[in-house]
Amino acid sequence: MVQVTRLSWIRQVTETNEADRQETAPQNTVPGRRVPALLISVIAHTLLLLILALLATESPFGIQTRFDFTATNAVDPAVESPQMQLASGLSPAPPTQVQPADTSTRSSQPNTLNSVSETLSVAHAEPTKEPMFNTAQSLQQILRATSSTASAAFASTGVDGRNPTRRLQLAKARGGSVQSEAAVERALEWLAAHQRPNGSWSLVHDTGDCDGRCRNAGSQERFDPAATGLALLAFLGAGYTQDAGKYQDTVRKGTYFLIQIMEETPQGGSLLYQSDRGMYNHGIAAFALCEAYQMTGDPDIKRTAQLAVDFIVSAQNYQGGWGYLPKQPGDLTLSGWQTMALKSAQAAELQVPASTIFRIDNFLETQQEPGSAYFGYTKPGQESHTCTAIGNLIRMFRGISNTDPRILESAQFLNQLGRSGTDIYFNYYASLYLFHIGDPFWSDWNPACREYLIRTQATGGHEAGSWYFENPYGKEGGRLYTTAMAAMTLEVYYRFSPLYQHAEDPFEL
Ligand SMILES: [Zn+2]
Repeated sequence: MVQVTRLSWIRQVTETNEADRQETAPQNTVPGRRVPALLISVIAHTLLLLILALLATESPFGIQTRFDFTATNAVDPAVESPQMQLASGLSPAPPTQVQPADTSTRSSQPNTLNSVSETLSVAHAEPTKEPMFNTAQSLQQILRATSSTASAAFASTGVDGRNPTRRLQLAKARGGSVQSEAAVERALEWLAAHQRPNGSWSLVHDTGDCDGRCRNAGSQERFDPAATGLALLAFLGAGYTQDAGKYQDTVRKGTYFLIQIMEETPQGGSLLYQSDRGMYNHGIAAFALCEAYQMTGDPDIKRTAQLAVDFIVSAQNYQGGWGYLPKQPGDLTLSGWQTMALKSAQAAELQVPASTIFRIDNFLETQQEPGSAYFGYTKPGQESHTCTAIGNLIRMFRGISNTDPRILESAQFLNQLGRSGTDIYFNYYASLYLFHIGDPFWSDWNPACREYLIRTQATGGHEAGSWYFENPYGKEGGRLYTTAMAAMTLEVYYRFSPLYQHAEDPFEL
């Protein structure tokens, strides 16, 4: 059924494109030169028809062969296989710059957030069953949005949806539910209860008031900036800032912990925190600082956020990625955090050099076989489903056409995998990616991921509101990391406005 929908869209686009081209075909109207004019017209139209025939064998019309929804690439969703062999063989289309439907870069300040829980208590209890996107409509919007030239700009995804009066409505319109919103609120309560007195969070969450009542503490002692950044991102994603909502003190103390620990260097402000994988600390904390500044305009945060961005710029490897420490060869997960920080920095009108952004494009090229839809962790041929989500998400923010076969093939691949039972890192990035791609993928992926997270949230004792999944990342990051990532996954409906307006959106953002 999905294939039929897609093919009908393809036909619609074909007709539209042909009509557009015919409207723009040259008209020879010079009087007194009728015979040459006709000859030129015949030649011109013959050439035009030949070009159209050739185009008809290329993207987007060739896409129909990529939408064979038989499970040729299906793998066990619970198992990440670095050796996964995935056929591709597609030729890349030249990237073009996205002009997103939403051009806002600043949020309006929420007035009160207490109404979220009040709204939840009286809202309709059933999640929406309506499709989140109208396929033909949203993909036509995508086509219109991909017509300009490449630049150093990230596509803008506004944060206006992080608003107590809009959150629930946006969530329901885009695939969330009253239950998913309640799960976010419970997660934030758990996070707030595990903040340390100095404003930080730790992956080793079970000290202080918790006193070991919550199991599955992480194993890393040197990741306080990363843990603090993750927790702050979860609060900010739901609209809670130092100036708005019931967690103002929590968010302010966390933000100012990051400001206090920043080490100013000639290369900018470092949040490495003396970790041997310090760029995780730095990238995640910088991401949170940029978002906090974007949402508040606080000048103290602005200075720190800009210094953190400067450090990211100086830490970039010559190939364009970021590794565990500054200048080291990059990997895609670390580079993903730095890139998200830079994207938020640009949205907040902080200074991000164009050369840094263009190097990210170069880095992405080094992580893919030519024409492949799949990304490796540190090099091509290590196809990773998490890195495939990260890499294509960045490409989308950088303006690659959503009709590029690589984008659509990767969306099909991730959707076929479905949500992971143990890997919240994958679920988070795949949700973010497929949310922006839209239907038919989003309406396939989202309900299963959403319901799984609602079902697996802890309900008893001090652990209530948290998550933990047993896998290598879960063991290292522990319940704190897992909870923050799960909350952000359930905030996907409003955390960023979609690159392409959803057909059923109740608001013009
Ligand atoms: Zn606890």
